Amino acid sequence: MKPTDTLNRPLRDLRISVTDRCNFRCTYCMPKGVFGRDYQFMPQDQLLSFEEIDRVARIFVSLGVNKLRLTGGEPLMRRELETLIELLAAIPGVDDLAMTTNGSFPVERIHSLQAAGLQRITVSLDALDDPTFMAMNDVDFPVKQVLDWVEASAAAGLSPVKVNMVVKRGVNEHSILPMARYFCEHGHILRFIEYMDVGSSNGWRLDDVVSARQISDSIHAELPIEPAQPNYRGEVANRYRYLDGSGEIGIIASVTQPFCGDCSRARLSADGKLYTCLFALAGADLRAALRDGASDAEIAAQVAAIWQKRTDRYSELRSASTQDLPKPEMSYIGG
Ligand code: SF4
Repeated sequence: MKPTDTLNRPLRDLRISVTDRCNFRCTYCMPKGVFGRDYQFMPQDQLLSFEEIDRVARIFVSLGVNKLRLTGGEPLMRRELETLIELLAAIPGVDDLAMTTNGSFPVERIHSLQAAGLQRITVSLDALDDPTFMAMNDVDFPVKQVLDWVEASAAAGLSPVKVNMVVKRGVNEHSILPMARYFCEHGHILRFIEYMDVGSSNGWRLDDVVSARQISDSIHAELPIEPAQPNYRGEVANRYRYLDGSGEIGIIASVTQPFCGDCSRARLSADGKLYTCLFALAGADLRAALRDGASDAEIAAQVAAIWQKRTDRYSELRSASTQDLPKPEMSYIGG
């Protein structure tokens, strides 16, 4: 059975958060004022085990999912992640097994991740200059090491490597062009992400958003671009190619050009809750079913029923009144 939701959207992608911990404190995601030394992260016994994640992933694949992405927190904070990747890579029907990382761990890990079966890597990087990047990650982490991770991933064949840059007005918009130039020259796909109101701890304001239009205009003025067709239905980034044929960029315009109509993504939090939208206020507890002895067929029926009732289209409905809703934090739900 391949369920569709109330807006006729299939279930295709599963984003699996493996930990709510991160070694960065990006100001737009895990601000130190909230995620300080005393912050209580999830205890180990609340996290889904690798075997439980594998089981859930297989159930989702039976319902139509063919893309898996590991997220967090920072997924590499979870020990022996390669063991999980080996399990997921062995699931028949998974066409794409990817991971989003902040690129801060030793580059040697790339080889063990790839050997385990990881196919693609997306790296988050918000600026090319250390003062801006360090102010944003708030742990003084330098740009160079993240760039090394990008290059090493590409050299290992985990390509195309994508680089995600969250753009926040007054903080890193001056980095748009340097980032575009750098990654165009180095042959990697840079994706700009409009600053979003995920969670409730980052103090999001609409005024902080640099719109997709402003981003594409500023690039086009120096490096002419034109829109390109999406690679597949449901692709989150609007694609643009450089007119000189030197590559492409993407812009994820969740705020100014919502793309809920094609959204086929589900999210599994590290403690086993199923969220059908990045901005959903609550998740369904699959861990309870897993640990209470439910069969695969029973859990599949539970997931299918949730998906068939799905009405989510938060970004299309975003307004002043949705801003202060108690949405889960990105470090918990996965990006
Ligand atoms: S707001 Fe929710 S439904 Fe819309 S694209 Fe994002 S995750 Fe999908």
